[in-house]
Amino acid sequence: MNSRHINSVRTFLLAMLLALAAASVSGAAYAAGNMTVHFLDVGQGDCILIQCGQKNVLIDGGEYEMGPVVVSYLTSVGTDSLDLVVATHPHSDHVGGLSFVLRNIPVRQVLDSGKPHTTSSYTRFLSLADQMEIPLKAGAFGQIIPLGPDARIEVLSPPSEGYGLGLNEDSIVLRATFGSVSFLLMSDVGTAAEQSLLDSHRGLQSEVLKVGHHASPYSSQPAFLRAVMPSVSVITVGSGNDYGYPSFRVLRSLAAQGSAVYRTDQDGDIVVSTDGKGLTVTTSSKQPDGEMPRDDFASPDVEQTSHTSIWDLLMWILKYLFGGGDQI
Ligand SMILES: [Zn+2]
Repeated sequence: MNSRHINSVRTFLLAMLLALAAASVSGAAYAAGNMTVHFLDVGQGDCILIQCGQKNVLIDGGEYEMGPVVVSYLTSVGTDSLDLVVATHPHSDHVGGLSFVLRNIPVRQVLDSGKPHTTSSYTRFLSLADQMEIPLKAGAFGQIIPLGPDARIEVLSPPSEGYGLGLNEDSIVLRATFGSVSFLLMSDVGTAAEQSLLDSHRGLQSEVLKVGHHASPYSSQPAFLRAVMPSVSVITVGSGNDYGYPSFRVLRSLAAQGSAVYRTDQDGDIVVSTDGKGLTVTTSSKQPDGEMPRDDFASPDVEQTSHTSIWDLLMWILKYLFGGGDQI
């Protein structure tokens, strides 16, 4: 191959590389006309971003020190303002990082569980929202948050009077729906709230379940999982956490349901995108040694991709362009 030929091949590959990089930044999976739900890896805690059309909703923000990680992630996926921030309950692994978010990204409204509590992270968050004059509303059963003609978020719990069983049980439970696909986001509720949802006889079936309370043994009772029948389950959990989560009992129940299980401690950031009919799951795939392979719980119905594959391709092209390229 002569040098002119090599140069034109390099130019072509460089253009391809730039196009791929642009696609990976803007995220083809996050295209308009889709609902994309990002489960961020914030260690032991919750942080979920919903993108739908022009609407962006953030649910929780992990611990205090995760604030910059969350803001950086939001920026990387093109979210430079938030229509709504939901603080599902006052515990620091959910509200800690939200103060940094309020200070760095314009927020139009805040929804919280309305249950008074004086944890320092929660009071800091509330006084900041007040100081910044961001409207604050208490979330309760029955509220609907429209995201577009075919998309909405429904508040399923808590009831306005609460359960009186502590902060976790009174967490805000949301069901986001786009077309015929639903995401059930259980925050940290346990079996009492699950039973109340079952007793309400509301349609709970959802394609994607954010497993309650980091898959602790005090939630995800089998009858509840049978009602939800998730094809994809997401567990937000920190690697080597002090609580021993996720519970093996919950993992077994999800496996018995045939649900594909994704975990932020093993899979990193988990992104689930839907066009209203099917699902695509993308992970940033960090797989620590010695953990049970996720494939043991995988369902064949879900298309799965990984950021690592596109980066492997980019790395290969870079290697070819700037070293060892003469081998072709
Ligand atoms: Zn929690």
